[in-house]
Amino acid sequence: MNPGTGAIRRGAPDVTGYRPTKGLLGRIWREFARPYRRRLAVFFVVLLAVSGLGVLPPVIFGRIIDHGVMAGNLDVVLWLGAAAGVVAVLSAVLGVAQRYLSASISERLIYDLRQRLYDHIQRMPLAFFTRTRCGALISRINNDVIGAQQAVTGQFGNVAADAVQLAVALGVMVSIEWRLTLALLVLLVAFAGVARRVARRLQALTREQMRHNAAMSDRMTERFNVSGALLVKLFGRPDEEAREFNDTAWRVADVSLRRAVISRTFFATLTMVGALGVALVYGVGGAMAVTGGAVTAGQIVTLSGLVMTAYQPLNRLSNAHVELLTALVSFERVFEVLDLPTGQAPHEGAVALQRPRGDLALERVRFAYPPASEVTLASLRRGDEQGGEPLPDLEHHVATPVLHDVTLSVPAGWTVALVGPSGSGKSTILSLVARLYDVDAGAVRLDGVDVRDLTPASLSAALAMVSQDPHLFHDTIAANLRYAAPQASDADLEAVCRAAHIHDLIAGLPQGYQTIVGERGYRLSGGEKQRLAIARVLLADPAVVLLDEATSHLDSESEAAVQAALAEALRGRTSLVIAHRLSTIMRADRIVVVADGRVVQQGTHDELVSAPGLYATLFRTQFGPGHAGLTTPAGRHPGSAAETANDPIP
Ligand code: ADP
Repeated sequence: MNPGTGAIRRGAPDVTGYRPTKGLLGRIWREFARPYRRRLAVFFVVLLAVSGLGVLPPVIFGRIIDHGVMAGNLDVVLWLGAAAGVVAVLSAVLGVAQRYLSASISERLIYDLRQRLYDHIQRMPLAFFTRTRCGALISRINNDVIGAQQAVTGQFGNVAADAVQLAVALGVMVSIEWRLTLALLVLLVAFAGVARRVARRLQALTREQMRHNAAMSDRMTERFNVSGALLVKLFGRPDEEAREFNDTAWRVADVSLRRAVISRTFFATLTMVGALGVALVYGVGGAMAVTGGAVTAGQIVTLSGLVMTAYQPLNRLSNAHVELLTALVSFERVFEVLDLPTGQAPHEGAVALQRPRGDLALERVRFAYPPASEVTLASLRRGDEQGGEPLPDLEHHVATPVLHDVTLSVPAGWTVALVGPSGSGKSTILSLVARLYDVDAGAVRLDGVDVRDLTPASLSAALAMVSQDPHLFHDTIAANLRYAAPQASDADLEAVCRAAHIHDLIAGLPQGYQTIVGERGYRLSGGEKQRLAIARVLLADPAVVLLDEATSHLDSESEAAVQAALAEALRGRTSLVIAHRLSTIMRADRIVVVADGRVVQQGTHDELVSAPGLYATLFRTQFGPGHAGLTTPAGRHPGSAAETANDPIP
């Protein structure tokens, strides 16, 4: 390892002013290191042996000169020469053993950390994901885990080995000639200080370089996508754009040049100090040998060898605290994630519904989306993440209730349609039923049991949700379907896909059910995706279906297919549907009209349409003479918007 390279490790967090939390070391030991204590003990023994062996060669060479060459004793020369060979072989073998041990410990540790983080993050409430950048989370799992791993085997190990090697080397040097050793030590420490200062400058420049690089690539990503490029063209600003880009690019060039020079200076200083030490030994030691005979020729050889043996650990140790702190910061950031409450752990006495009937009820539900402080990582709010902007201060933001006093019931087997202006809280109601969030007051009950008293597993088994734009993983159609029921046979898949009116389409694809879909896979249309999602629901066979109907316009054929699939999916189940289509509303057993987070009307279509109120208004503006239906966006009918003031049924 190069002395002090850690000081310029790319992407290392800035640890200036960082103080580890009390008890951090104890916690690292208890939670992560203790399982490997035997291996760690062996690792430290091997480490000590390797450092001890490192000091031997210069001592042996000195003896060969003094007791062999100068004394004319061939036996001594041969025996000691052979001993030096054995030490070399032993060092190499132990070096491999040391590496094996450190790698085996650190890989297991990385594995432990990664899987604990992954498991914890996936159990976080949904609010956490809406407030946290995906990149920041991935960086936790990747970079911080590696940083933390370096703490255990890299840094602690190196510090111990360096300290031993330095102590042994200095001890031997003092026993040979203490005044010369003292002079060397002064020289080495003084220059190690210089090297450290250069290293700090280098670190600062590296960070600056990364910042400018990030700014440059952010700019390119922003300008070179279609909408960015369009804006540049429409406003006719290519010259200004070029000028601003040139500025950024120039700053990158400038800082890179400075960094190159400083980096070379850093390594030159390191090499120079070592060489100066050796020169001092030969110059001063040689003079001592000639004048008073206080040192022998062999001792000069030993001393010059030991200068290098002592210098490298000395240099590394002078930087060790920065490295250690860097590693500890990583651990702290890992713990920060692990300490976030997931809030979903089943409490003791949680009930598992055996055969849910599907009686759904909201009782006087009040809800506000949680403020950022409850769900986001403290370091993210501060903007500590590489290139991260601090989040707006939502901490003192008083969360306004989205639902005020919502009471509604969906008896088992009923279809209830939620209708109301955009932003009135319909999706929020579905999220609360699925327990993606917990209510602030009141309760959501399934078969009379508060959903918070159900085991999460039995709640997920009882419910399924189809959103407007269902997500598919980048995987085969079969795998996406089996996400709902891993045991399902091929025949099961085909049966549900037939019921969801999507089988013929899948069967017509060259790879059939093995076709890869998702982000980069085969592009299914919106209607096809919804039908696939419906097939997935049929496979899960839940008692309750939560459905957010697609607002997007489907051609009449897909529309008919989706409707047919839905009829199949909802038959015999309880369903709560955010309705955008007249057909759904007409079919519903009850319609619940929501406005501004309150239920303002309930009833069947016939009851509501003739009564004065929001529903009648919405219906008249959307379904009056000449209007196609509830799916028609308001914007297409300028006359209708004024009457409803709000976005009509979205
Ligand atoms: P609808 O489904 O009726 O259009 P929503 O339930 O989506 O209405 O939204 C109700 C209100 O809650 C809106 O004012 C919206 O801005 C707010 N809201 C929705 N989701 C979030 C969220 N994740 N965080 C904070 N506020 C939200």
